[in-house]
Amino acid sequence: MTGGHRFQDPLADLYELAAGDILVVCPRCGRRAVDVPRPGGGRRLACAACGYVVEAQAGASSVWGGPVDPYFREPLWLRAECCGGHVLWAFNRRHLDLLDGYVGARLRERGDGPGGMTLVARLPAWMKAAKHRAEILRAVDRLRRTLED
Ligand SMILES: [Zn+2]
Repeated sequence: MTGGHRFQDPLADLYELAAGDILVVCPRCGRRAVDVPRPGGGRRLACAACGYVVEAQAGASSVWGGPVDPYFREPLWLRAECCGGHVLWAFNRRHLDLLDGYVGARLRERGDGPGGMTLVARLPAWMKAAKHRAEILRAVDRLRRTLED
């Protein structure tokens, strides 16, 4: 194999990605806030720009599968409309890197782990379409730039 274009699905799934930090739009000031895991299983959403803080207890209900924070239901920071009305979204930088790696790869290899429902296996068809590749990569770049300040 010649390196550079092969992407191996690291078996990450949405739950695992969301166990780390999640970037959200601050409900008070609209700038970038972060939802972080707390010892004991709860979550804490905090905005460094305006001082907004809210906490969720361990075991609180969560919502999955759209461009919102599963714990606090605030809009994700990493969200971009592309490819005719679809929304590209990511919880955090690692998630964005995964999407980037998947879409940018010429060869793809499905991880073969238990469960089989990895992030990559579950990506919507529009994200897997070759004709959308360039536009998706541009959207990923745009989102990556919002993490630089
Ligand atoms: Zn704020």
